[in-house]
Amino acid sequence: MSKFGISLLRRCSLYLGLAATLLFSACDSGAGVALSSAGGSLKILATTSMIGDIAARIAGPHATVESLMGPGVDPHLYKTSESDVRRLENADLILYNGLNLEGKMGEIFEALSRSRRVVAVSKDITAAELRTPPEFKGHHDPHIWFDVKLWSTVVGPIRRELSSLDPAHAADYVKNAETVAQELSSLDAWVESHVAMIPADRRILVTAHDAFGYFGRRYQVEVVALQGISTVAEFSVHDVERLTQRIVERKVPAVFIESSVPRRNIEAVQKACEAKGHKVSIGGELFSDAMGAAGTPEGTYRGMVEHNVRLILQALR
Ligand SMILES: [Zn+2]
Repeated sequence: MSKFGISLLRRCSLYLGLAATLLFSACDSGAGVALSSAGGSLKILATTSMIGDIAARIAGPHATVESLMGPGVDPHLYKTSESDVRRLENADLILYNGLNLEGKMGEIFEALSRSRRVVAVSKDITAAELRTPPEFKGHHDPHIWFDVKLWSTVVGPIRRELSSLDPAHAADYVKNAETVAQELSSLDAWVESHVAMIPADRRILVTAHDAFGYFGRRYQVEVVALQGISTVAEFSVHDVERLTQRIVERKVPAVFIESSVPRRNIEAVQKACEAKGHKVSIGGELFSDAMGAAGTPEGTYRGMVEHNVRLILQALR
């Protein structure tokens, strides 16, 4: 077969791959968020709003930044809709978390990477810095945004991509990236000092799925979850029993629901604790895998982190 024939065949299989992705995801799975409407010539599409927030700050007025997954959307289960594919195809730069967070989008990233820059913002994080929980069989924990210091590692790849796509404004990207890194550093110190106010024996965070492992590691909080580091696998009766026993033994005062996981999951645990004579309250709703609504304080990365820490502090101290 000629070289041309092979390349045509490749292109056809690429097209078929995209078509298959579309077939299996006919419904719109989440409204995206426009994070910067400054109307710069570059178009950036981030998967999660946490990535979009950082990218919009670094891009400033030189790019339009949007995120694909809106408030309450679970990235582990996210399937690309037809309108998403159009938005992805219109972007000059696609930024995603990686580490298998967007577990169902791998195929589409691969297809799109042949015609534009598709970059995992976690690429500079070394394996030694990542959590690899034994129960997740060799996979890394993707929830890197809850260790604020670790999250500042994503600033580098975003700045480099913007500078290479738009060298005329490289100096601005460097300056903005420095400002963002400094703000993340003071946010990290703020989290550390606030979590330290919770007595050590009460520093136990019980949530619906294991999104807070990096948070626990960085700020010395024991983290226990009903589901593993992805919501793809359903929890079992055994998981509820295991968690209930831990809560009762440790006399945990409060458990937390998450904005991107159905609340009935953690309510099942609350009921099971009550049946064992231990009353555990719901400490409130944490933003785990998605930020809050645009225009609210929790609709920014910083606001989301501050909301979570205040809620945890209030319920556990
Ligand atoms: Zn998650």
